[in-house]
Amino acid sequence: MTNPVRASAEPDPGVSMLSGIGVSRGFATGPAVVVSPPPAFDPAEPVATDQPAASARVRAVLHDVADGLRARAETAPDNARPVLEAGAMIAGDPALADTIEALLATMGPTRAVHEAAGQYAALLESLGGYMAERVTDLMDVRDRAIARLSGVPEPGVPTLTEPSILVARDLAPAETALLDASLCLALVTEAGGPTSHTAILAAQLGIPAVVQVHGLAVTPGTLLAVDGGSGQVIIDPSPEVRTGFAAKQARRATMLGDSRAPGATKDGHPVALLANIGTLADAETAAAQAVEGVGLFRTEFLFLDRADAPAVAEQTATYTAVLRAFAPRHVVVRTLDAGADKPLAFADLGAEANPALGRRGLRLGRARTDLLDDQLDALAAAYAATGADLWVMAPMVATAAEAAWFAERVRARGLPRAGVMIEVPAAALRSRQVLQAVDFASLGTNDLGQYTMAADRLQGELADLLDPWQPAVLDVIAAACAGATALGKPVGVCGEAGGDPGLALVLAGLGVTSLSMATPKVRAVRTVLAAHTLAQCQEMAAAARAATGPAEARAAVLALADPVLTELL
Ligand code: PEP
Ligand code: MG
Repeated sequence: MTNPVRASAEPDPGVSMLSGIGVSRGFATGPAVVVSPPPAFDPAEPVATDQPAASARVRAVLHDVADGLRARAETAPDNARPVLEAGAMIAGDPALADTIEALLATMGPTRAVHEAAGQYAALLESLGGYMAERVTDLMDVRDRAIARLSGVPEPGVPTLTEPSILVARDLAPAETALLDASLCLALVTEAGGPTSHTAILAAQLGIPAVVQVHGLAVTPGTLLAVDGGSGQVIIDPSPEVRTGFAAKQARRATMLGDSRAPGATKDGHPVALLANIGTLADAETAAAQAVEGVGLFRTEFLFLDRADAPAVAEQTATYTAVLRAFAPRHVVVRTLDAGADKPLAFADLGAEANPALGRRGLRLGRARTDLLDDQLDALAAAYAATGADLWVMAPMVATAAEAAWFAERVRARGLPRAGVMIEVPAAALRSRQVLQAVDFASLGTNDLGQYTMAADRLQGELADLLDPWQPAVLDVIAAACAGATALGKPVGVCGEAGGDPGLALVLAGLGVTSLSMATPKVRAVRTVLAAHTLAQCQEMAAAARAATGPAEARAAVLALADPVLTELL
């Protein structure tokens, strides 16, 4: 993540420029592809006077939706194809068309589609299992059919046919699963913040991204130039601006170099560089990169759209494949982190007024020991099958008692290393006690920032408070590191802060032993670490903590950094 400060530079006369928050560095120029929101049904739509004609129209629309989904499935990435094929089957199901037809007698066509989809969804849910998991696909068909009936573009990420810049109000994980990453040059969104899904996705893809771009209303095909560092989005850039952007991108690539050396400061102090992954496909991509292992495997990403808990055998197969992909490098697996911003249908404990402060992470694991135990059993089986260097950690640990409870369950299964994520200030301040019963800690700076600053991480409007350069957050991290260092236990960072080159220097200075991030960020972090000594990193950490605010902290670090590299920081 880059410095989340709004761009303030004045545009050149005649240049139309918008400013947002740069959340993934780099420069890109290309045509805009606009993600349309799902349409609502029209409540004022009259009942059709010609019923047979209305029915024929709805059937034709469903037919077109099915054809469109089938055509996309043919060229979609492997992981997205089954979703599109399932959608095509639903759209072509005569039972859906019959239900809509019956409703047309009492309501307009868009509402009939909406109501019929609701009835069909209830039926699928009652069947459970695979059928219940198709509800999301059904809702997608519903939205596409309503869009066609209303004469507006179909919602979601359109098929990219050329290298393009994706423009959206916001991006949800399910939407981006269909994205052809090889053709996506940059992301620009109106909502979102530094730890939003857009930022995480952009980091995984290694492309520039700008969020919180207000007044974003571009028509598809408009040429855009995006600077993911400063947060500038230039509309219809001149040939000079385009050449300038291409030159900057080339200079950045040269500075990043192609070293594959293990992470270390200039004077050889090791800081392991690790990958954050969420799926087996991520693991396979990351394993080919110059990383020293996995610092965070977000296992809940495997199950986001599942209606039922995955069976132990299925989990074992996935974990075994991930461990094999990385062997002999170590892999840190995080147990299910469900709840709050990552709701899972099969791990829902009911509505809560404040989900982020409720039973999420390990708290949910303690309420649903069946889910946690199944996962640990699957991990133990994968460990037995591979003998890999497997570390297992729990999310959202607050107390020493919770840490000990988790460690006992991990060790009871013969798993070699138990750890905790430090995401709650309570655990950071008492890390010496919390880490007593475990082998390692990993700082989840996304949540640690949220809880330290009392600012919802999903609220893009609170980006200033969520800035990981906030000196208060650095103080809390420093406390966590001091406890771990006193015990001689490894303490890594796996939140977005770990992939910010400037913060990586500060974190190394505070004593972290590893930094885990989306793999495209590793090159910049490796380059800046190798250019500064541990003593310089410590000096930077002290300067950042002494600053009055995040911008001052960053400026203080820049002033101490090698000037040749400031463009990377
Ligand atoms: C974090 O909170 O920093 C973290 C790594 O966990 P997640 O982003 O998955 O909540
Ligand atoms: Mg977290």
